[in-house]
Amino acid sequence: MKKNFAVVGFGGMGSWHVNHALKSDVLNLCGIYDIDEKKSALAKEKGIYAYSSLEELLNDKNVELVTVAIPNDVHLETVVKLLRSGKNVICEKPVALSSSDLEEMIKASKESGKLFTVHQNRRWDVDYLAMQSIKDSGEIGKPLRIESRIHGSRGIPSDWRCQKSHGGGMMLDWGVHLIDQLMLIYKNEKIDTINCVETHITNDEVDDGFYLTITFESGAVAFVEVGTYNFLPLPRFYMKAEKGTALIMDWREKTKVAKCKYWHENDVLPVQTAAGLTKTMAPRDSVTLDEYELDIPKSDVHDFYRNVCKAIDGEEAQLVTHDQVRLVLKIMEQAFKSAKLNQTIKFQY
Ligand code: NAD
Repeated sequence: MKKNFAVVGFGGMGSWHVNHALKSDVLNLCGIYDIDEKKSALAKEKGIYAYSSLEELLNDKNVELVTVAIPNDVHLETVVKLLRSGKNVICEKPVALSSSDLEEMIKASKESGKLFTVHQNRRWDVDYLAMQSIKDSGEIGKPLRIESRIHGSRGIPSDWRCQKSHGGGMMLDWGVHLIDQLMLIYKNEKIDTINCVETHITNDEVDDGFYLTITFESGAVAFVEVGTYNFLPLPRFYMKAEKGTALIMDWREKTKVAKCKYWHENDVLPVQTAAGLTKTMAPRDSVTLDEYELDIPKSDVHDFYRNVCKAIDGEEAQLVTHDQVRLVLKIMEQAFKSAKLNQTIKFQY
């Protein structure tokens, strides 16, 4: 049976959730609540019920599941109220502005016995899924270094995302997705150190991008870069592994894989550079490599909601767990600390 569902916040992402709910095989949309009367009026125009207050939604016993899609600084109070009123809750990312806020949410979930999870929807992005499948298949061995980048060229949106008090900045906005993905790819690795450098090209108050290096105890590295002032982008994903390299240029493109078949080459044709010849940096003889492209993985982001509904009924474990969101939040907190101190710091969980 479909779960009776509501959304708090009817802005950009709230509308996304509403549109998904309207076509869902697992959700039945009961309505939205937004603090802004213009948003409520807009919902009514679209034939969607708009709760007149949060209390009205809290008291609607019909609603079992609520997604919270409001600015980051107001997640805590809304999530806790919803859980304490007996609703199952999905919170938008980043779940909270601090680990202590997250612990309050988890406490409310445990005490109410209601499901609480986070909308880490980029676990269904096909570029990430392709990287995950290469790692899991072991076809190019263990990753030594994975670089995950997104490069935009429009700065930060000029809404609450450029204000610190609302939890703005690119680490909390995009870093949270890219770190979550890399922690799943490197799921059995233990973090040793964190180094982060923020960029403030278009915005002083919050980071408009950053370079984050996470080094694991094994020596493997996860590198995350978010940029909003890049007029030519670098590749989306680059994996250097024990037996080869994998590359994804753009979200929508296939993964290119070069697997090393034979380490030794007979004759290396040198490459002419302005300063002279180089053999070291010349391309490998193609007979020593197995080069191919991977099909784009199949993905349906609505599987997030299907999982949540099954988890409420005790039929599946929730995919986005408290431990996973806690780890990502702690990495981001320590990345901010590293950037502030301008030094590499030992990771503390
Ligand atoms: P937005 O500014 O477009 O919309 C926010 C809405 O929340 C507005 O309509 C505002 O009136 C309303 N609001 C503010 N405070 C409220 C409160 N206390 N109670 C009820 N309504 C309130 O912002 P957005 O882009 O939709 O972002 C909302 C959340 O979704 C953020 O946490 C953001 O990080 C997240 N988000 C996630 C993704 C994703 O891919 N998972 C993408 C975009 C945004």
